[in-house]
Amino acid sequence: MARLSLMLAASIAALTIQPVQAQDSGSLPGPGEPELTQQTANSGGPLDPAQEKVRFDSADLEFEIFPDRHAIAGVATLHFTAKEATDRLVIDLDRNLPVSAIRIDGTALPESAWSNPEGRMTVMLPRPLAAGESVTAQISYAGQPHVAIRAPWIGGFVWATTPDGKPWIATAVQMQGCDMFWPCIDYPTYEPDFVDLHITVPKGLSAPSNGVFKGMDTLPDGRTTWNWHAEHPTLYGVALNVGPYEEISGTYHSRYGNDIPMFFWHLPNEGDKPEQLFAEFAPTLDFFESVIGPYPFASQKLGVVETEHKGMEHQSINAYGNHYAKTANGFDDLFQHEFAHEWFANQLTASNWDDFWLHEGTGSYMQPLYGEWREGHGRYIKMMLDMRPGIRNQHPIVSGTPQSASDVYYDGPAGDIYSKGAWVLHTLRGLIGDQAFFDSLRLAIYGRTDPKPGNFEPVYRSTPEYIAFVNQEAGGDYQWFFDVYLYSAALPKLVQSRDGDQLTFTWKTEGNKPFPMPVDISVNGDVTTLPMTDGTASITVPQGAHVIVDPESKILMQSDQVDAFQTYMMQRAQGAH
Ligand SMILES: [Zn+2]
Repeated sequence: MARLSLMLAASIAALTIQPVQAQDSGSLPGPGEPELTQQTANSGGPLDPAQEKVRFDSADLEFEIFPDRHAIAGVATLHFTAKEATDRLVIDLDRNLPVSAIRIDGTALPESAWSNPEGRMTVMLPRPLAAGESVTAQISYAGQPHVAIRAPWIGGFVWATTPDGKPWIATAVQMQGCDMFWPCIDYPTYEPDFVDLHITVPKGLSAPSNGVFKGMDTLPDGRTTWNWHAEHPTLYGVALNVGPYEEISGTYHSRYGNDIPMFFWHLPNEGDKPEQLFAEFAPTLDFFESVIGPYPFASQKLGVVETEHKGMEHQSINAYGNHYAKTANGFDDLFQHEFAHEWFANQLTASNWDDFWLHEGTGSYMQPLYGEWREGHGRYIKMMLDMRPGIRNQHPIVSGTPQSASDVYYDGPAGDIYSKGAWVLHTLRGLIGDQAFFDSLRLAIYGRTDPKPGNFEPVYRSTPEYIAFVNQEAGGDYQWFFDVYLYSAALPKLVQSRDGDQLTFTWKTEGNKPFPMPVDISVNGDVTTLPMTDGTASITVPQGAHVIVDPESKILMQSDQVDAFQTYMMQRAQGAH
């Protein structure tokens, strides 16, 4: 997801998030906006015990979209296998979408068999399931899904119109989860093996979606149904997009020997801008395949669709709403960021939202890394330094306990999962070197250091698992590094003291955690690396010599000048009100 600006985050948190958490069945306000329960508003909260007893195997999702009424109707056919015996299914679904019928293995249930008071529906099964048994639940529902207040950050349905007045519709539900528009188990590790989608839209509109296109059916009245098959979709990555799209397509010949179909669905009448963005797809793909590894969804497609909202990493159908903005870095950073999430979110999915930084820190690090790939170290460092003043250090990036998506985004480290996460990776790379850094990343993403198309599957990862891969590839115990950078809020501070010609440097950390981070010191232009083995080291520096600490900006550390700049910017923002 695109990073939310600090000011916008503060206003959204103040206006809308606090009431949700302050009340039991809080509401996101908005004119005519029906109540959103706490259960539905939060993605990835605690599982119901009955949900822990099942595996979510696959889903077949029929949708009809009614732009005039801002409504949808759906028939979801969900396949589960019991891991333990159970007499019920518990399925998350926004109660704004009332269920009209449920069939279990083809047999209709009486209405008394299900209830959905809070957006978590309990379905009593006609007969209990034994461990290992499978069951099919067909759920018919319809209604007005919650409208996004500020997509993608406060998400839901986006009922926009194009400049010439046609419906332009999208979903963006990372913070709230799949249950905003289809019945699912809204927890990161409950991805189905595959999802089939059948999306019916009014005449003249198209519905690009996840995975492989399986053809379009035209109904007698001109409505069309668009059929798609998506393998291993991330739950919040399943998306609806409807509009009068035009399509650009091409084929990328991968360095791994396979061909990858590429598509961009954009609005009409945009001149040559869509072609210019499409021209970025192949070189961006080549960067990722060269530096990280194979595109994870090559057998499906690379897909991008233009949206009214800023962006979202919907699997193989990334949302793009950056208005073709140009930057001095030479590429569209929003497209690049969302595409990075195909590796860091859709292939490697955080097993709990407490590990959100595994999506956003890595996803944000990929833009400077692409700048380095294109232009060298200068561009890389420039882009890293641009991110540095955004780091707030108010909460640890990782808490060590399970979190919902909004716990992290609004009550936790928030933007630090992006900029601080990227700086942690930059610092780690400098510490352990490129070979260990990229191999540990590949182990985390693919489960192997030699990924090739067809030899890996999507994975769930936690922060401790990532740290274990780093330790394995770097050949040491780097827990101290992550204890300071991920599990502490404050940045390490390098304190200097002078005694005659001796200049002594000492690391100060939150809770006095050990921090043997080597640091470069330039004295009159000669650079010495201090080992800092016990967190301290001295160097002989003549009086009057010119000293620069960490002259290549390798290390994320406390900085008086950044602190002063942040204070100045905060005061200026407050003064502007
Ligand atoms: Zn992102």
